[in-house]
Amino acid sequence: RPIVRLDHVSKTFSNGTIALKDMSLTIGTGEFISLLGPSGCGKSTALRMLAGLGEPSSGKIIWPDPADKSANDKSEGEIGFVFQEPTLMPWATVFKNVWLPLRLKGISKEAARPRVMEALEMVGLDKFVDSYPRELSGGMKMRVSIARALVTRPRILLMDEPFAALDEITRQKLNDDLLRLWEQFGWTIVFVTHSVFESVYLSSRIVVMAARPGRVIDEIEVDAPHPRG
Ligand code: ADP
Ligand code: ADP
Repeated sequence: RPIVRLDHVSKTFSNGTIALKDMSLTIGTGEFISLLGPSGCGKSTALRMLAGLGEPSSGKIIWPDPADKSANDKSEGEIGFVFQEPTLMPWATVFKNVWLPLRLKGISKEAARPRVMEALEMVGLDKFVDSYPRELSGGMKMRVSIARALVTRPRILLMDEPFAALDEITRQKLNDDLLRLWEQFGWTIVFVTHSVFESVYLSSRIVVMAARPGRVIDEIEVDAPHPRG
């Protein structure tokens, strides 16, 4: 079942840079999609437009099945976004950092607590709920930022080279944990990377992109022991 579809999406920035040209892609429920390609091929631009950060210059992004507004659980969100940098508030505890997206929806600290703890348990950091970011390693900060993206139970998790700044061992650990969580919870993930290894290791489908202008040149179904969406 498709969650979102890019339909002939192009993006030209005001300075004339053609970041993306005629990209079409259907993302199905439960897929783990990698956007793989060299720096500058438009991966981030595509991801940001999926998140609603920036409009296509032409073409459309279509969500065929808009969330059921009648259910109206305001603590649930459409999209979780994980940036390359953890972007945590340094002056706030782990709890407050993960609470933030719910707080912005008007959910009180006490009402948010079970959700925050659930998200922290998923990433293995529930014991660090009262710590400050400066007390955590790079990998742990990234885990907090993943928990923050998960706390709204998004329909789709968008990750922009999330582990690129981490050392190889930490990165591999996080890759393993992400894969385990994806298998366990059946999330839909779009993961931007320029690592061929990472895309093969993680994803159920690889969308290969090329630069100048940014475009899709191939799609590969990965025949790994992953469950399919
Ligand atoms: P990737 O994520 O694959 O490295 P990006 O989507 O970040 O690629 O960028 C694609 C192209 O668009 C690059 O040439 C980049 O310099 C350019 N670009 C990205 N954002 C902007 C912007 N806000 N204004 C102008 N050019 C941009
Ligand atoms: P991670 O991949 O989770 O970031 P690191 O290898 O960066 O872990 O760990 C740095 C330090 O933090 C190590 O001493 C590690 O034992 C500790 N650490 C990381 N995660 C946890 C955790 N969930 N519980 C206790 N200690 C942890």
